[in-house]
Amino acid sequence: MNVQVGAESIKSEYVPCDLCGAVDHEVLYSKIDSVTNWTFNVVGCSCGMVFVNPMPDEQSIPLLYRQDYHFEKPLLDSLYKKMIEFLPPSNENSRLLDVGCGTGDFIKHAEQVGWDAEGVDLINWSQTYGGLKIRIGDLPCMDIPEESYDVVTAWAVLEHVRNPSLFFNKISTLMKKDGYFIFTVPNVAAPGIRHSCHEDVPRHLWLFTPGTVESYLDKNGMKIRSIFHDGKIYRSYPFGLLRYTWHQLIGRKEMNCSVYENRSVGLLQNRSIGVHFKRWITEVFENVPTCQIALDFLDLALGVIIANYSKIIRNYGVITVIATKE
Ligand SMILES: [Zn+2]
Repeated sequence: MNVQVGAESIKSEYVPCDLCGAVDHEVLYSKIDSVTNWTFNVVGCSCGMVFVNPMPDEQSIPLLYRQDYHFEKPLLDSLYKKMIEFLPPSNENSRLLDVGCGTGDFIKHAEQVGWDAEGVDLINWSQTYGGLKIRIGDLPCMDIPEESYDVVTAWAVLEHVRNPSLFFNKISTLMKKDGYFIFTVPNVAAPGIRHSCHEDVPRHLWLFTPGTVESYLDKNGMKIRSIFHDGKIYRSYPFGLLRYTWHQLIGRKEMNCSVYENRSVGLLQNRSIGVHFKRWITEVFENVPTCQIALDFLDLALGVIIANYSKIIRNYGVITVIATKE
């Protein structure tokens, strides 16, 4: 399967489940991607994993991203401060590896609080990393001495890689004994998330649950120390659920997300609603049919209510996991 993106072509292929190897999966929904203009299927495996299948091949992954993919700067600075709070205390020899480090800003924050911090990313996001220790390439193939790091972090990264199992395995070998692996991933076991079109498909290739995370860790000699369902670092809302539920009720099992997506929320992209409220409202009235706006706002309210309920029952749509190597 080929998709043309500018002059370059995206190729995709059917893949087995990365966790259990099963090849039979249930198609949950299909979604048109605004970057590639191609429709991707999201499937569910009996082991709990949810993923994009057919999946873009290794060479095509960088083509799925716009250069401005990351959140805007003021949002990021506050994010990094929250991430730092999850780290254990450091001493002068404490080494940290940030997987999927992007432009390296988290590494700078970690250095400021005493960590000897390094990063790795598949994509070179910045021509000038300003002296930061960053490797560009595919982590599982990298030649790095084993048991080198006290802490490995992967903030919203494992859902982006084609083979999470290779990353869990490599990260385990890089951690010192009793080292920490701290990471955030989407949780499709949270209410409404499994059928919400709000996931950033196909940048998000694999969606996890607390159970599948535990299986990955167990296979690689790690165990869960804590799982946080607080939405402190990243937030997740099951937008689109109102129209999806309505279609289920009237028996129209529509698979394409465009039928029940919340277009008003979609216009926000990665911007903060608080900072851009006025501009966003103007864009909503310019782009969304008036008859749909009320439904979008009802859906938005429903999504916010369900997301807050998810925190209370400790089953939120994005989880932060602290694991240790046994
Ligand atoms: Zn599976």
